[in-house]
Amino acid sequence: LAIILKPGVRVRGLQPEMLLAIFVAEHEYSCNGQPLVITSIVDGEHSAKSLHYSGLAVDIRTKNLTEENQKQRVAGSIRAALGDCYEVILESIGKPNEHLHIELSPLGLKRRGE
Ligand SMILES: [Zn+2]
Repeated sequence: LAIILKPGVRVRGLQPEMLLAIFVAEHEYSCNGQPLVITSIVDGEHSAKSLHYSGLAVDIRTKNLTEENQKQRVAGSIRAALGDCYEVILESIGKPNEHLHIELSPLGLKRRGE
């Protein structure tokens, strides 16, 4: 299993639903020969209502996915594997802060009882 936490990432408060998503994402990265590097969980700067603050969102490095359309393919595979309780979004595409954002979807929150 290759899951790497970028130095400084705060993990306290990570919800188990997101741990499952991390495992699924790690598998897809692994199939592409890359480690999964988590760049943000509860830390970092996010919008005021971001699910990061409640441990229901994670950010994952994409700059190690360098092949043509590899980011889109990996994101698509993770999205398909996780189903509709999660949202998988490539954010800031082409910018220095590009990353893959995974959060619990409104349906996922509802099923969680929120
Ligand atoms: Zn995020």
